[in-house]
This record gives sequence, C-alpha cells and structure tokens, in this order.
Amino acid sequence: MSTDLGTPAVLSPDEADRAVRLAAPRGYCAGVDRAVITVEKALDLYGAPVYVRKQIVHNKHVVSNLESRGAIFVEELHEVPEGATVVFSAHGVSPEVHRQAEVRSLKTIDATCPLVTKVHHEAKRFAAEDYDILLIGHEGHEEVEGTAGEAPDHIQLVQGPDDVKNIEVRDPSRVSWLSQTTLSVDETLETVAAIRERFPELLDPPSDDICYATQNRQLAVKEIAADADLVIVVGSGNSSNSVRLVEVALEAGAKASYRVDDASEIDEAWLDGVAKVSVTSGASVPEDLVEGVLDFLTERGYPDAQAVHTAEESLIFALPPELRRDMRAAQSAGK
Ligand code: SF4
Repeated sequence: MSTDLGTPAVLSPDEADRAVRLAAPRGYCAGVDRAVITVEKALDLYGAPVYVRKQIVHNKHVVSNLESRGAIFVEELHEVPEGATVVFSAHGVSPEVHRQAEVRSLKTIDATCPLVTKVHHEAKRFAAEDYDILLIGHEGHEEVEGTAGEAPDHIQLVQGPDDVKNIEVRDPSRVSWLSQTTLSVDETLETVAAIRERFPELLDPPSDDICYATQNRQLAVKEIAADADLVIVVGSGNSSNSVRLVEVALEAGAKASYRVDDASEIDEAWLDGVAKVSVTSGASVPEDLVEGVLDFLTERGYPDAQAVHTAEESLIFALPPELRRDMRAAQSAGK
C-alpha cells in the first residue's frame, strides 16, 4: 500500500508575511492580583455574600466571575446592610467613604493598591504644607475621586494641557502636582511641562505617580506597535490603562488598534489585508482572555504568537493587614 504524503501546503504571499507578536509584560499587575485575591479569600473566610464597593478592578469578566462566587458589587455603601463585610476596590476611596462605613458599622477590607495609597499620602502631605495641588487625571474616575477626597480644599483636577490656562491658584510659588496612576506617561509629561511653564516653581511629587505596571505595559506596546498593521488590546472600556494602551499603540505607529473585552468582540473585517498583528492586555485582564484572542487568530491562519519581552516584573503586594489578621485567627482556631 502506498502512502500519499500529500503536497506541502503553499502559503499565499500574505500568509507567509503573517506574524503575531505578544507584549510582555501584559495583563495582571501586582495591585490587581492582590485585589482579586482579597475578594476570593474574603469569600472563603467569611462566606458569601461579601460586598464590594465599585468594581474591584475594571474588568467585566473578573467582576462576573467573583459575582458567581458570591460577591455583591455595589456603587455606594448605603446599599450594604449594616454590619456586613465590604471590600474597597483597588482604585482607593476617600476618607469620607471610610467615615460612612464606620457610621454603618461595616467590617471593611481595604484592597486599595499600595501605589494608589502612596498618592493619597502625597496629597495629604502637600495639603498639610498648604500647597495648591494639581491632580492630573480623568474626571469621574474612581481613583481621582478617592485621591481628591483626601484634600478637597487643596486639590483641583487638570485633565490635560488644554486645562492649564484655566488653573487658578492662591500662590504661584506654592503649587504641586500629582497624577492618576494609569495615565499615558507621554501625555502626563506634556501636561506637567505646560503647568511648569505657568508655574516655574512647581513642586514635583517624590517619584512619578504613574505606576510601574502602567509604564511597563505602555513601553511594551510601543515596541510591538511600531510596524503592526493591527494592535488588539484586551481590556474593558472603563479600564483607564487599557484605553491608554490603544492610544499609545496608535501614537507609536500601529496602522489600527482596537480594544476588546474578549475574542468575541473582534470584528473579522479588522483582519482584511492584515499581516502583522500585535496583542497586549491591560493591567486588570486575566490571561485566559488573551489566550482566547490568540486562538481566534490561529483559527484564521495566523501563526503562533512570538512574545516580545521589554521588562521583567516580580512585584507582589501582601494582602490587606485586616484580612491577614482574620486569616491567622481562623487558622489558629482550626477553621
Ligand atoms: S495599575 Fe498600578 S496602581 Fe493600578 S492596581 Fe495595578 S499596580 Fe496598582
């Protein structure tokens, strides 16, 4: 019996040019990882339901997964029954929210990312020194609300260079700035430069507020975007750092870039005539959603993805101390 080995498949010129590049680092940062584990451990320890004020992290898949395990997400604390357990999200809360929790006798677990807490401390310190604080960020974002709530009489929001001409301060020699942790690094520098032009004595924060994860993901997307026909960013629409990745990809030279929550949102038409596809994900995105996008591409004739490494990340944050204390107590009680 003869065996037909078949004719080797000949790739069309387009197919031969195809390549998929995958940013590294991408996806979960230390703050998101800690926040998600905090809710999971709280559910294990206290049992369902555990209330969470706002989305624990800005990703709809993460939120629905935790909901299926017994977490109840609320917008404000009046929706939480008196005495219940509530987790504060990674984006942070203002002192007023802590006060409301006390009034309602809620048991609170604070999953605010330590890098956001650092910005809160800076806000308190600048306010104590009576500086006017210019907070660069997006109006309505939970992190901005939390930080501004630390010193509402001293902080004013600046959304970009265009806002700078309208800033009014008490004393131009006592002005400082802070920023949301998930902004575009380049745009923020532009805004700071515009502020400094108006207020040459502007005081900088002790270190950049834009966090390591945001910076690393933006650097990585620049690397894979420059010669890409298409950059797909996995992340939810309310995720500031994911939305910024699309903007950074386009600025870095990508011919097109789209954000999707998962593979089901990819429009097949985006792939028309596209050889080089690059993929990345925001800091609140679980890796299985990225894998779904890569599978989608493979099924349409694209080769396996090549990872492009631009930074190593090893940061891990300890869980909130109040949760660790209860976990230790449960352990010694033999639960
Ligand atoms: S993106 Fe940065 S600031 Fe936000 S949770 Fe992650 S590590 Fe913290």
